Amino acid sequence: MCGIFGVTNNKNAAKLAYVGLFTLQHRGQESAGMVADDNGALSHHGDMGLVNKVFTADVLDGLRGRSAIGHIRYSTTGSSHVKNAQPLFFNSCLGQLAVAHNGNLTNAARLRAELQKTGAIFQSTTDSEIIIHLMAKYRGKTLEDTIAKNLPRLEGSYAFLFMAPGKVIAARDPNGIRPLVLGKLGRSYILASETCAIDVVGGNALREIEPGEMVTIEGGRPGFRRFAKAAPYTRCIFEQVYFARPDSVIVGRTVQLARREIGAMLAREMKGIKADIVSGIPDSGTAYALGFAQESGIPYQTVFMRNHYTGRSFIQPDQALREFTARLKLAPIKDVIKGHSILLIDDSLVRGTTSRKIVKSLKRAGAKKVIMAIASPAVISPCYYGIDTPDKGELIANNLSTDKIRRYIGADELYYISLESLTAACGNNSDRRFCAGCFTGIYPTKIGRFGGSGG
Ligand code: AMP
Repeated sequence: MCGIFGVTNNKNAAKLAYVGLFTLQHRGQESAGMVADDNGALSHHGDMGLVNKVFTADVLDGLRGRSAIGHIRYSTTGSSHVKNAQPLFFNSCLGQLAVAHNGNLTNAARLRAELQKTGAIFQSTTDSEIIIHLMAKYRGKTLEDTIAKNLPRLEGSYAFLFMAPGKVIAARDPNGIRPLVLGKLGRSYILASETCAIDVVGGNALREIEPGEMVTIEGGRPGFRRFAKAAPYTRCIFEQVYFARPDSVIVGRTVQLARREIGAMLAREMKGIKADIVSGIPDSGTAYALGFAQESGIPYQTVFMRNHYTGRSFIQPDQALREFTARLKLAPIKDVIKGHSILLIDDSLVRGTTSRKIVKSLKRAGAKKVIMAIASPAVISPCYYGIDTPDKGELIANNLSTDKIRRYIGADELYYISLESLTAACGNNSDRRFCAGCFTGIYPTKIGRFGGSGG
């Protein structure tokens, strides 16, 4: 759960990267960083906090040059430290080099141990640093050759941006698990985790970087090559379910439309259900509820007021903060709720904490009945590819039956959408598949002893 953004050949590179990172802020709020290239001299700034705190006007002015890459980070517990802020920046035998990574390497622990045994000294605890040590050790003729030679040693998920004097290089893992899009703004090329960031800076998204593909942007032009045969596309389905911004386009349509379609599919699966109103937990639940309302004929109403100044509650790595911000975040609109049976949609149910609080809040506000509908199947397995899900033991669907979960959250009824409907609504077909490991326990790559706390 991180966001990356890069721009080349633009006199306002750092400022555009700032806007791009700001747009991707929903992907991580822990730290932010940027590296800019001023005629071959790279400068770096990174710190803990939100994009607008990390990059003051002075800092941005200091990041001179016509290319910049940036990163915003969500960290898993225990690794919330400025030394892990990306892009990571090195002066090495390869020259000046920066790397920004979104994803998680599932063979990180093994690779790190191997590299340390032969003398590598790591400066961070992120798995993202491993690629640099591999590159320093196993070199090719050119920087691109070096990258292409080493990426196949990595297992797991990655969207990478590298910066070296005069060039920006992007690469995406052979399964295409994490997103990476190429865009254009005038003569500038842009690389971003989501199309929304390309839109906001005024550019156009051209296409995704393909699984197993690398692109080098140098001298204002992109050059493409493959470093691995593309495995079957298995994009992370949680991007559509929860993570991506509704205005981003994934496989040909906006996430908003995909979510409305998921909501409609859910309504079809729950055909005949009776409720006075349908609503969603803002923000992600709203699109599902709109699709459900249209399909079922049950009217949509807003039942919660969201306080937009709290940030995403889950994105605070500390449990005490998480609980506090969740309560602060959503306030029930009492007149809409009182005396009504409410069908409420949330994107996912992980530990059950959110649903339990929300149902309690609706009941306290006078709801006659609360039917909880979840726009994804039960989460039964952790994500090893960068979405922050807790260990198996904390996943409520692993421990309790659906009826016991219903009782735990205090709902009168509880439904989940089927995986078939979810993936169909997201555009599943024979060459366009999704990773749904969190719902199935089946993963598209080997899962080693998990040692990542990546980007
Ligand atoms: P829980 O409260 O543990 O059942 O988690 C489900 C709630 O958290 C839903 O409201 C989701 O919108 C949100 N959520 C699910 N997965 C994540 C995640 N990986 N990061 C942040 N929020 C999440």
